[in-house]
Amino acid sequence: MVELLVVISIILILMAILLPALRRSIQQATSTVCMANLREVHQALQIYRLDNAGWLPVSDHDQEPQLTRDVGLMSAWYRSLFPRYVGDLTVLVCPADPLADAVRESLSLAAVVQDLPELTSYGLNEIILTSEDQYLAHVDRYPPRRPWDTLLVADLGADVAPTGTADYEAMLWIESVRNHGQLPIDDGYDPGRSVQVPPWLTGRHSGGINMVTFGGAIRSIRTESLMTEPISAYYEDCALGGCTVCNQLALPHYNLSAAGTYWWTGTLPRR
Ligand SMILES: [Zn+2]
Ligand SMILES: [Zn+2]
Repeated sequence: MVELLVVISIILILMAILLPALRRSIQQATSTVCMANLREVHQALQIYRLDNAGWLPVSDHDQEPQLTRDVGLMSAWYRSLFPRYVGDLTVLVCPADPLADAVRESLSLAAVVQDLPELTSYGLNEIILTSEDQYLAHVDRYPPRRPWDTLLVADLGADVAPTGTADYEAMLWIESVRNHGQLPIDDGYDPGRSVQVPPWLTGRHSGGINMVTFGGAIRSIRTESLMTEPISAYYEDCALGGCTVCNQLALPHYNLSAAGTYWWTGTLPRR
């Protein structure tokens, strides 16, 4: 009996030691899959750009990107990648996304049907799509000054609805935040629908997110502090790094400079 108790307690102690390590390695594995997804999306966007005279996908297949002015009406950017550049849209599902199943279902339908709620785990840097006439999407003509350090695509939340929300409402809430797969620079204004929306920021990778830059650098950033600190239009470290939002736009934005990444670098095109 005593021997049995000893064996059981040894097993319990071993489990207590091994479980956190196991949890960590599972988290690392999901983050690795997420990074591989981002790498594939980056590659698809680069090939799309080469095929489309320097334009990134911003609109419907039928329309010229530069003719699409209403961001609210255009179809999500990733639809233009399917099926030629991305054969399987589930590459837009982050395995650490608590809504992964819903996202996968939405994407499998998005591939065949228009006019559906557009739910994805990743967002494209909104500055590209909301710059004047979306000129920044012409990355050959208006390239960022520091491509390696300029944000292209990142993990997009939100992952949880505000507490006290019913399941159905929570789902609608999350859909509205993730609509069109755009990554807003701030936690407030949705230019597509001209409404205030809740923050998109998430900490789904052990308190952080993964992102890929124009140059193809895959980076992680801790988001815990970003999610609680008040948002600002100017951060000294961000401005010194060459952030156009700090230096030129002066719009509230999340400060990603801790990872050496900026929303935009270089000047913005003006008419
Ligand atoms: Zn992810
Ligand atoms: Zn900045």
